[in-house]
Amino acid sequence: MVRKIALEEHFLSPGYEDYWWPTVGNVAAEVASNLLARLGDFGELRLQGMDQAGIARAVLSIAGPGVQSEPDAATACRRARESNDFLAKEMQKRPDRYCGFAHLPMQDPLGAADELERCMRDLKFVGAMINGHTNGQYLDHPSLHVFWERAEALGAPIYIHPTDPVSLAPVLEGYNGLRRATWEWGFETGSHALRLVFGGLFDRSPRAKVVLGHLGETLPFLLWRFDSRAKLYGVKLAKNPSDYIRENFAVTTSGMCSAEPLNCTIAALGHGRVMFAADYPFEVAQEAGEFLDHVPLAQAVREDIAFNNAVAYLGLA
Ligand code: ZN
Repeated sequence: MVRKIALEEHFLSPGYEDYWWPTVGNVAAEVASNLLARLGDFGELRLQGMDQAGIARAVLSIAGPGVQSEPDAATACRRARESNDFLAKEMQKRPDRYCGFAHLPMQDPLGAADELERCMRDLKFVGAMINGHTNGQYLDHPSLHVFWERAEALGAPIYIHPTDPVSLAPVLEGYNGLRRATWEWGFETGSHALRLVFGGLFDRSPRAKVVLGHLGETLPFLLWRFDSRAKLYGVKLAKNPSDYIRENFAVTTSGMCSAEPLNCTIAALGHGRVMFAADYPFEVAQEAGEFLDHVPLAQAVREDIAFNNAVAYLGLA
């Protein structure tokens, strides 16, 4: 079993259940309560899952949407801070096993920048995870330039996690089986990432770092097409869209236990941009671990994806 660092491993802070419940509205009650028990556990349940998958360290993040769906900005700031302090205490109990991504109140751009800096400097977090749009506002919004400048200065990776779209796309009406993780979240989150590229974020902040799960939410498959159509439609950027996706993005294997998209992603971005994630407890960590242990890859590439890339990218000791 190859030693791993996992980047999309979720928990819930006390009091965050109300934000989270709507995301499991269409899941059987027994499954939802089992997930809730795992999200609140930092002991045997979680550690056993990590051990079975060969996960030496897990970077923990709030199960979304958290304060991304909080209507009141001041409440979002307060609760994000409380959640980060809560996670920091759990990390201190097992510093060899747990790292953290900050939870940020994007309703308040300066507050989010300050909280990211506090989490990186004082709590020793390794970046932030943002659960998609915040009450309909995406991360390319001009008010967030101050946030991206700070994230760039701190060298902080910003992981964009899927969330429900603002409204259901008409094409999905009547097909609940296509909603959320089947297809809807991939389109929503890939589109969110492309707003950053096409909005010129990486021309303003060339060292900004963005992480996507699910092997890049289909973006690696489409690089040529983005470049080709951006020219046709007169998109004004300093470089081709694919250049930013190759240079400013990293991706994880969360929820993708399949060789074909992994090989496509490695070919498109280079294996140095790919890291492991299990998406505990929403996926079975052992299955994700066994996939990476056995998928046909050169052993050095496997070890980089499993562990070494994350050490370098997150600046882990
Ligand atoms: Zn996840």
